[in-house]
Parts: sequence; structure tokens; C-alpha cells
Amino acid sequence: MAPHDKIVPITKKTIPNNVLHVLQNCDCVCFDVDSTMLTCEGIDEMARYAGKHEEVKALTKKAMGGNMSFRECLTERLEILQPTAQLIQEMIEMKPPGITPGFQELVDALRSRGTEIYLVSGGFDCLIVPEAAKCGIAPNHVIANTILFDKEGKYAGFDKNNFTSENGGKARALQYLKDSFKFNKMIMIGDGMTDAEARPPADIFIGFGGNVKRDAVKEVSDYYTSSFFSILEALQLK
Ligand SMILES: [Mg+2]
Repeated sequence: MAPHDKIVPITKKTIPNNVLHVLQNCDCVCFDVDSTMLTCEGIDEMARYAGKHEEVKALTKKAMGGNMSFRECLTERLEILQPTAQLIQEMIEMKPPGITPGFQELVDALRSRGTEIYLVSGGFDCLIVPEAAKCGIAPNHVIANTILFDKEGKYAGFDKNNFTSENGGKARALQYLKDSFKFNKMIMIGDGMTDAEARPPADIFIGFGGNVKRDAVKEVSDYYTSSFFSILEALQLK
């Protein structure tokens, strides 16, 4: 059975009370993007497209084993990739990443209840904004990193003021949203530990294993699921 199939029947017994309560009463849901909203990792796709997948993979391995900060890792990966404006444009046109099944349906259902949707990512807005647009999510609801280009379209670094360009960035991004828009109940949904770190300020963290399963993330989740359809069912439970 495919991982995105509707498999687990959701009842009030299979989802914790507090999760159900927050889900049905939240005014803001923040989704991670890479391996959550989208089926792949943007930087891996970029590396593959630039023909530098092996180099980036080796760096990722090194970063996971050492004490490299998120920013150092981001800096080094981009130094290897040297993405140009042209490469990004070609990527968007040639290799659109897949949107995870059920994401659109869940977003639509949340919105019809008046819930605000944000995408909070350590990836790149140039790749995320076009995919967000397909789901009706505006650029000002995307918090991610910005690659900078010079006049010729060559790589010129990244915007270091962005929340998610540093460790703990997702928590800071959610706190900013909470303070700015006075949200009462916020949910973070994602596949990684950096997503789990956004609670608090998120009231609950839903771990998502539909694309990549991580036991460490499952352990710290208020609720863990491999299908957006399960969250949709829970949202609609009477
Ligand atoms: Mg992710």
C-alpha cells in the first residue's frame, strides 16, 4: 500500500484529546516545506540539477556528525552549488517538485474554517513561492531563506536576516507570527527536529512521516502521522 493512502481510521480514541482540541480550534497552522508540503528536499534537488549531488551529500554527512551550525551548513552548501538565477529558473520550469498528497485538501479545509496557513522553511523562497502559489498560498505567507544574485544573475550569498537562516529559526518565526497577528492557537507540522523545536511557541507539534520517517521526531511529537488525510479526518471529527 502506498504511504499516502488513507489507512488509519481516525476516531476520538486514536488521537489525543489535546491535539484534537487544538486542531479543531487553531487559528494558525505552519507547515514545513521540504519532505512535508513537498515530497523532496529543495537543496538536494538543486544539487542534483547542478550536478553536485555527491559533494553536497558528503557535506550533509559531515554536518550531521559534527557541530556545524545550520548557518555554516547553509553557507557551505551554497558555496559548493553557486546557484545562478538562471539555474533556479530552469529548475522551476523543468523539475517541479511534487506536492504531498492530501496537503491541498487539508489546507483548503483549514482555510474554510478561517485558519491562517504559513509555510516555514529552511529552504529557499525562490523554489517554494511557485509551489505555494499552486496551493493558493501567497508569498507573504512563506517564511524561508532568500538566495541573493548579483546583476549578472550570479550567486551572491543569502539574506542573513531571515529567521530560518540560523539554528532555532522556526521557533523565532512562529513567535514573530504569534506577536504580529495575535494568534491564539498555533500548530507546527513537519518531518524534522527543527520543526519540533517550534513548539513552543506552537501549542502542538504534529510530526509528519509521509515522505521521510524519523523515530526521533516521532518521539517528541504530540501526534505523528504519515498522511495529511488523517489530519483532515481528525479536523472533521464531530
Ligand atoms: Mg522538512
